[in-house]
Amino acid sequence: PATWLVYCRPGFEPDAVAEMQHHAALACVPCVPALGEGWASLTRTDDEPINAMHRDARFDKLIFARQSLAALVPLSLSKEDRLTPILEQVKQSRWSFEEIWHETPDTNDGKALAGLIKALTKPLESLLKKRGALRRKAGGRRLHLFWTSGDRVQLGISFPGNRSELKNGIRRLRFPSRAPSRSTLKLEEAWHEFIPRDEWEVRLAAHMQAADLGAAPGGWTWQLVQRGMYVYAIDNGPMDTALMKTGQVDHLKEDGFVWAPETRLDWLVCDIVDKPIRVLTMVERWLINRWCREAIFNLKLPMKKRWDEVTRCLDRLEASLAEAGVRAEVRCRHLYHDREEVTVHVRLMA
Ligand code: SAM
Repeated sequence: PATWLVYCRPGFEPDAVAEMQHHAALACVPCVPALGEGWASLTRTDDEPINAMHRDARFDKLIFARQSLAALVPLSLSKEDRLTPILEQVKQSRWSFEEIWHETPDTNDGKALAGLIKALTKPLESLLKKRGALRRKAGGRRLHLFWTSGDRVQLGISFPGNRSELKNGIRRLRFPSRAPSRSTLKLEEAWHEFIPRDEWEVRLAAHMQAADLGAAPGGWTWQLVQRGMYVYAIDNGPMDTALMKTGQVDHLKEDGFVWAPETRLDWLVCDIVDKPIRVLTMVERWLINRWCREAIFNLKLPMKKRWDEVTRCLDRLEASLAEAGVRAEVRCRHLYHDREEVTVHVRLMA
């Protein structure tokens, strides 16, 4: 395959492409970009395979990509026979897989393809099995059929350890009916994204203390309280009454950019809408003083060049921490429940 294909939130294609081009430049690989609603791709112009670059641009480190695939040339299909061209392309690629996923862009047009996909799934599976392209042991590889319309599909391959394990790269979460705001899902998704499930008992533990800056009405605080934590909720605005009745929340009407805890806490979370660099400067102070062990915060990105802004912020964070001699793991993602913002996770190392 000569193409690197990623899925992203519609409207964020230029940012996804900018991020991919950054990796292409690092690898000195000549590429041309393409983009549609909810996806972006880079294709090598030197006829070399994309595989090494796709592998080196690790999915975990990507910000705007919801899924990352090594892809073939998109196919134009006729209504009469959609399967033959797909089978031919698989045969020519000489790929084999353990699984087939049909996926679509995160758009209404994408959703409207569900019926067609349902009708094609079984017949395609049988034909690929018959040809030996779909089998039990194929190195965990998965075939993705990315349908952008009923007559256009792009085949991509993903590799274990370097992909999203979620359909369409989307983590659907049920809205907890007692949570005070929909924002609650952003923090829950961030935990799923950044903290392995088998570490939740230790890293999101009931005896912990957290600060939630810009907490009102309390969607994020609610998540922390659900984990059993004690929360300092910093916001001038009103907090949800039922949440306050748990007795696990101390609501302080103070400025989140100024407030400092009296003792060290375990968690800092922040969902204040302000300039990214202002939020970052405040979080840096927390980290350098070790007022928390882990932090999750949003950087709001209403501007056009979001990739530029995010990299500026992350580079600065890295430089500030290094200068202060603070070692940390930093990750950043544009989550499914994020809109004009990205979510950053920092974990200090001992
Ligand atoms: N995460 C919250 C939830 O799940 O319910 C929603 C937070 S809302 C997007 C942003 C909040 O930040 C607002 O309630 C606002 O009052 C608060 N805020 C803005 N500037 C602030 C500041 N300097 N200090 C503390 N809170 C601030």
